[in-house]
Amino acid sequence: MSLRVQFWGTRGSIPSPGPSTVRYGGNTPCVEVRTAGGWLVILDAGTGIRELGRTLIERANGGPIQGDIFLTHAHWDHIQGIPFFAPIFQRGNHFTIWGSKSLETSIDRVVRDQMSPVVFPVTFEELDATIDFRHLAEGERCAGTGYEVTAMEVRHPGGALGYRFTEPRGKAALVYVSDNELGPATGKFNTPDGWHERFVEFCRGAKVLVHDTTYTTEECDHHRGWGHSTFHEGVELALAAGVETLVLFHHEPRRSDEELDRRTEECRALVKERGGTLQVVAAAEGLTLTV
Ligand SMILES: [Zn+2]
Ligand SMILES: [Zn+2]
Repeated sequence: MSLRVQFWGTRGSIPSPGPSTVRYGGNTPCVEVRTAGGWLVILDAGTGIRELGRTLIERANGGPIQGDIFLTHAHWDHIQGIPFFAPIFQRGNHFTIWGSKSLETSIDRVVRDQMSPVVFPVTFEELDATIDFRHLAEGERCAGTGYEVTAMEVRHPGGALGYRFTEPRGKAALVYVSDNELGPATGKFNTPDGWHERFVEFCRGAKVLVHDTTYTTEECDHHRGWGHSTFHEGVELALAAGVETLVLFHHEPRRSDEELDRRTEECRALVKERGGTLQVVAAAEGLTLTV
């Protein structure tokens, strides 16, 4: 019994293809999760979802495709792949798009507006697949097909959710937090007192923690309040929460493959310094993990 995880998009903010990002990839966030029973869960719908969609159609071999799509929030880099996700143009397919209850504009409104005629040639109403929207609030526990999920509000402009997935009655957890500022509270985010301690508990004991490590410590000083974390902060969180594997995620668009190799080694050195057993890997398109 296990959840199978595959990365299709690992980059933050904007697609960044080119010779220096070939190995870790230039597509914006999209992660495929498969339950033991084969149910499809997709985390975020950045440009990585385009290639996932093509692969799903190939694998389905004419059969229907269904699954749940969990969006952490509605910033472009997390939704911009939806209009290019080919399975939504096929009758008989069925997707449920999940998003935060507390967004200023509801997730279904944002997805529909992304396909309004002034910005996209096909309207949402013209799509052939069946698409439902569901909303999740912090603390709610939802039972899906072969998995359970809980959510927590994290620190990001406009609000965002982190998700914790387990199998029903299972212990091994996948925690996915694509965009989140772990640094000292700036007053910009209205997370309540004690948020940091509660967030560590939310990540507690995860077999795999996928977390925002957009910035280096130097870069972060200039971007307080932008809602992202550093490599160092990601490692400290994972150590505090007793995580088994930390996946560095939401790579800064300019971060080259060579630099990501180096940053990953620095993270591992920090773990060693602390005497921890935490494993650290940088998310790369095509990387697969078992939870
Ligand atoms: Zn993002
Ligand atoms: Zn964002």
